[in-house]
Amino acid sequence: MATLFRDIYILDGEREAAQKGNILVSKGRIQSVSEGDSESADKIVEGGGHMAVLPGFVNAHTHAAMTLLRGLGEEAPLMEWLQNKIWPVEEKLTPEHIYWGTLSAILEMLSTGTTCFADMYFEMDGVANAALLSGIRCALCRGITNGPDLPDGTRKIDASLADSLRLFEKWHGREGLLTVQLGPHAPYTVPLDDMKKIVRTAKERGIGLHFHFLETEWELGYIRDELKMTPERYLQDTGILDVAGAVFAHGVWMDPEWANELDFSRSTIVHNPRSNMKLGSGTLPLDCWLDKSIGLALGTDGASSNNRLDMWSEMTSAALVHKGKTRNPTSAPAIDILRMATFEGARAFGFANKGLIREGWMADLILVDLDAPHYIGANEENLVGYIVYAGSSADIRGTMVNGKWLYRDGSYLTLDRDEIIKNARIAREEITA
Ligand SMILES: [Zn+2]
Repeated sequence: MATLFRDIYILDGEREAAQKGNILVSKGRIQSVSEGDSESADKIVEGGGHMAVLPGFVNAHTHAAMTLLRGLGEEAPLMEWLQNKIWPVEEKLTPEHIYWGTLSAILEMLSTGTTCFADMYFEMDGVANAALLSGIRCALCRGITNGPDLPDGTRKIDASLADSLRLFEKWHGREGLLTVQLGPHAPYTVPLDDMKKIVRTAKERGIGLHFHFLETEWELGYIRDELKMTPERYLQDTGILDVAGAVFAHGVWMDPEWANELDFSRSTIVHNPRSNMKLGSGTLPLDCWLDKSIGLALGTDGASSNNRLDMWSEMTSAALVHKGKTRNPTSAPAIDILRMATFEGARAFGFANKGLIREGWMADLILVDLDAPHYIGANEENLVGYIVYAGSSADIRGTMVNGKWLYRDGSYLTLDRDEIIKNARIAREEITA
């Protein structure tokens, strides 16, 4: 079945300006992008000049099932928040909790325009099943951390790495919707030798790597004082930069000057501005990184440190915070932020031909209603500014993955919203009891 978007604005992160025209979608792909009169189709979305189609957002770093932990330990420093509020509750999470918590996150993400999310958590079979049920794309990895040995004497990290490889074999590439990475949590939760081993495995097996790096200034001190090395040395010694598809979540305290000596061309930093602001972690120097050869994507982080899973809000926050911090209104241009929120995230996690509106690319799209007072005056030249600064996810009328509507006019077409909310509520009660 073909869907024609007629007389709409077309905008993505690599266009100088929006274009007025039509998009024909069939067999999961964008078949044509045209101007003027268009061919017909089974289904027509009539834009009337007051709708826009954009690529769906890619939430490039989150912990989806942390929807169940939202609101716990508000306004506490990161390590205190993790150790006292989050980790003890996470110990109670069952596979079923994670399944419903993830589905609850997917409800939020679909209604706010996300068509792909990168998830690091545990019990990831439930995450994979939730993603496949909904039809959303997902890059998943099991978070690997140090901990007490298992009852049979196996080291926890070894068991987690083995489980990650099992997940890769089972889910990677499934239905074209899933990719799987290795997920060593962070330098302070994975001993150096284990990090080296995980990186080696990633390189040998051709698997991507997703981990937290330099989220806080404390972590900078940890690497210097506990590991007795500079962060640049850490990157070199572990070999992380040689992994094809290394994703650094946060990178707040990474220094763009390192890119003069080190090759970051295979790596991506995922900027999480709202989480970093809320936890008081700082702000990464985005402008300096935009000049370097490195991928830059955007993510929400978990719902318990944001507290939204709304990529549109993340775009607005990113575009504003850097202008304020640098006292420069030309910082963090809206078009760069839109590209980070879409194409760059897809590329970072190995999703090809996704995140731009081009013929032959996958039809992962959102439909935005411009028939609202805050869009008066929007045109081809200025639409990106209206989207990033004036609009919000409340303007989204539809979210499509592989040419199939998953969310349309407030309804979910693949998921039972009420059932998910009921079960997520039960899960929340069980883990906080
Ligand atoms: Zn995180």
